[in-house]
Amino acid sequence: MNSVEQLSRSEMASLLGDVINSERSMMWSDFRAQGGKQHTRAQCRVSRKAGAPKNCVIHNPSRHKMRGWPMILRASGLIERRCPHGVGHPDPDSAAYLDWMEPRGRWTSHGCDISDGGPCCAPDKP
Ligand SMILES: [Zn+2]
Ligand SMILES: [Zn+2]
Ligand SMILES: [Zn+2]
Repeated sequence: MNSVEQLSRSEMASLLGDVINSERSMMWSDFRAQGGKQHTRAQCRVSRKAGAPKNCVIHNPSRHKMRGWPMILRASGLIERRCPHGVGHPDPDSAAYLDWMEPRGRWTSHGCDISDGGPCCAPDKP
């Protein structure tokens, strides 16, 4: 069954938005407002020394187009970025870090939405 491709963008966005709501996840801003802790710069440096990828979602984000999008914290610890259509896309720096911590090869797999004929989170064409 391949019916997802026949949905319009808005139908798909609302469907995938429901997925965000139904999983155990919360907006990063709510997490922080409720006293949720992020790792410190010192902890960040220690993990870089231990061999973690150089970019950090909080302290040293790479130049990807989702940097300005609101962050969603997943129960798994993955941080996603919510696109303007309400869909969560794994933050590449968060996914790279988790792939280093806990390699399982699917941190970046997600239900993506299509915008301008391609995956919404794909890098902009130069
Ligand atoms: Zn950091
Ligand atoms: Zn989108
Ligand atoms: Zn995506």
